[in-house]
Amino acid sequence: MMVFFYVRRELTLLFIIEMIKSIMKTITTPTLNVTVNYNPTLLKDNGIYLAGTDNEKIYVDDLFQKMPSYVRKYILLHEEGHIVNRHPFKRVLSQELEADEYAVKNMGKRRVYRAMYHIMKVFSNIDWTIVAEYMVRLADLGLPRGNEMFIKAPNGLRFDVPTLRNYL
Ligand SMILES: [Zn+2]
Repeated sequence: MMVFFYVRRELTLLFIIEMIKSIMKTITTPTLNVTVNYNPTLLKDNGIYLAGTDNEKIYVDDLFQKMPSYVRKYILLHEEGHIVNRHPFKRVLSQELEADEYAVKNMGKRRVYRAMYHIMKVFSNIDWTIVAEYMVRLADLGLPRGNEMFIKAPNGLRFDVPTLRNYL
């Protein structure tokens, strides 16, 4: 009886430790200590949607504010990825992939896929070139059958991922 009790107590303790660990994890990610500034004008002037970084601070716009929390988390982790990898300000597709991979490391592939899908859905009414870029990025991140996706441009032409990649 004593042994049984002892084991149960140990298990309860383990359970509590695991619970604390998981709470700590949610509090400590995103991992960087960067300031997030609301500055829609700055982003607009640079032709950027949602968020951008000068490798010191992260700047966000109104569209970012309207996103659900898991999407905001993905966007902030993506920007953190740029900061951590010290990317130059020039936009290059390989840098975007590196930033996305950083987000995957911190919140998991599935949630990143979901967040990117959500952004694509929102931008299908705003700017189709953004949807096209996310499509290529999702394929590069290893989305199953990602290379088979395609998008119809406003002029009616169908672009598949390998073709889109040449334009980015
Ligand atoms: Zn980026």
